[in-house]
Amino acid sequence: MEFLKNYYKSQQILSPINDSIYTQTIPSYYLPDGINTSENVLAFIRGSEKPEEVIIISAHLDHMGIENNEIFNGADDNGSGTTAVMEMAQAFKLAERDGYKPKRSVLFLHITAEEIGLYGSKYYLENPVFELSKTMANLNIDMIGRIDVKHKNKPDYLYLIGANRISKELHFISEKVNNKFFKIDLDYTYNDDDDPNRFYFRSDHYRFALKNIPVIFYFNGEHEDYHQPSDTPDKIAYDLLAKRTQFIFTTAWYLANKENNLIHNVDI
Ligand SMILES: [Zn+2]
Repeated sequence: MEFLKNYYKSQQILSPINDSIYTQTIPSYYLPDGINTSENVLAFIRGSEKPEEVIIISAHLDHMGIENNEIFNGADDNGSGTTAVMEMAQAFKLAERDGYKPKRSVLFLHITAEEIGLYGSKYYLENPVFELSKTMANLNIDMIGRIDVKHKNKPDYLYLIGANRISKELHFISEKVNNKFFKIDLDYTYNDDDDPNRFYFRSDHYRFALKNIPVIFYFNGEHEDYHQPSDTPDKIAYDLLAKRTQFIFTTAWYLANKENNLIHNVDI
């Protein structure tokens, strides 16, 4: 957490809380027994026209720690998502410096205590820094640096989960951005209501969806190193990680600058 905080400071990317506090402390009583106080890390770029409205780009920063003297490295889960969020923040900052401020604010949210039951996101949604009614969308990244067995021979893919569930317009925008600039094979297998893996319910975006905030969950699927000590950085496909990050960035950029709010399905 200190590392992330120092990163944002060094990039001169501000905190939405105040000048020096980049963290939201989650008290130990909020967490399961035996878990110490923890922190979400937040940084943001202020919108030029609608600064009170926000797009939240999130990734959980926790993993499984050490068990039986073995370090669970978590390079894909979720070093990949964490670095993607950091890179996107830097890109938004560089654009801002060049005079291209997004119209809406963009919040970079590193969430704690995901692995033990989505606690960090629950806490954020109960103690939001931006009004939930002004939170336009949550783009959540949890594992985007690897290739699963299904896509071994066609690795330019990504699973998207949830995009159409609250706002079909969000799904449409995401598709449009991909078709125009990236042509990644977007796989919606896990977005099926009947999918037995139930990934839609298993990462932090779900807390946002419960509050009727449109979400997209970006995911490369499970692999043999999932939740194993062997989830190490040498196995990350860095070219894919970079391209997937650029795709998510471009989606966020479009959302932050579009004229109107997203149309929710219930309003159609
Ligand atoms: Zn994860």
